Amino acid sequence: MKANRIYNFNAGPAALPLSVLEEIKDSFINFNGSGMSIIEVSHRSKWFDKVINDAVERTKRLLKLDENYHVLFIQGGASMQFCMIPMNFLHDGKSADYVDTGTWSTKAIKEARIQSKQITIAASSEDKGFSYIPQNVKFSNNAVYAHITSNNTIKGTQWRTFPDANGVPLMADMSSDIMSRPLDTEQFGLIYAGAQKNIGPAGVCMVIIRDDMLNMVPDGLPSMLKYTTYASKNSMYNTPPCFAIYTVQLVMKWLEETIGGLEKMEEINLKKAKILYNILDTSGFYKGTAEPDSRSIMNVTFRLPNEELEKRFIQEALENGLGGLKGHRSVGGCRASIYNPTSLEAVEALTDFMKNFEQKNG
Ligand SMILES: *Cc1c(COP(=O)(O)O)cnc(C)c1O
Repeated sequence: MKANRIYNFNAGPAALPLSVLEEIKDSFINFNGSGMSIIEVSHRSKWFDKVINDAVERTKRLLKLDENYHVLFIQGGASMQFCMIPMNFLHDGKSADYVDTGTWSTKAIKEARIQSKQITIAASSEDKGFSYIPQNVKFSNNAVYAHITSNNTIKGTQWRTFPDANGVPLMADMSSDIMSRPLDTEQFGLIYAGAQKNIGPAGVCMVIIRDDMLNMVPDGLPSMLKYTTYASKNSMYNTPPCFAIYTVQLVMKWLEETIGGLEKMEEINLKKAKILYNILDTSGFYKGTAEPDSRSIMNVTFRLPNEELEKRFIQEALENGLGGLKGHRSVGGCRASIYNPTSLEAVEALTDFMKNFEQKNG
């Protein structure tokens, strides 16, 4: 632990690399020789232009996106995308497919229905409390798009491989696992991610959109709610969330230059997850809640023998410098979010604590 910081297992907003926080601190008063803070420079200045362009270029390099993809920065969080996607792409009685894998998918479905858009639930894992990812999902041939949530932050499940959408553009909420692994982007028409889980602070959502999707956006929508506005103005039709974008840029730089790309990142993430799941699998005390073949490498969810022990576990962990282990309020239990910036060292400190706690209370 450095600078009195705890090991942070929060689900979001979540841990950021210490080197990124230090760089922000160093440049906060005088950004890049401008004589101004990054939160004081104009978004129309050469300084900010460099920041946003570098964030976009690094994102494209990391994900190996070809020139058909645009990287946009939109406010309103991932939740705004739940509404923008059907608004921009579902017209004239056309229909889209959704896979329901828990809270966030369910919310995406709700936002399409509020707008009276026609959607089909292609698959759902509700029958077992959303503890797994449906297999062999078939999408309708005439669906305009197929929506999935790549990582289910609350239930701790993740699509380890993506379904074959058979030509239907996939739209994925990757809020809690974007940049955690290499991605074969070809099938995806749109990818979005609220930055505050894995790539930055709250206040901005990264949207990656394929060129052909932009042609489907009708003219009649409000400017701030259509993708074409952001794509044609490099996300600067109005004032963008400059500080959040700056932080995302630094995280992308960290991924490229310190970690060495997404293959390396995935290797580290798999290692961290394996250590934790190994504890769950070998203990009679802790019990994982996700089905083994659907487990997330980002959010590890588990229960203890009773709620009283869970409460004590979370409390004692914090006293030992391990924070954010409480499960989402909708499901209870415990959850360790081990996003990209969470180090192997942090995970080892957690497993040491878990073994100790089991010995004392098991
Ligand atoms: C946190 C989260 C959201 C909600 O994000 P906001 O930016 O708060 O709107 C949506 N989807 C997933 C998968 C999430 O983890």
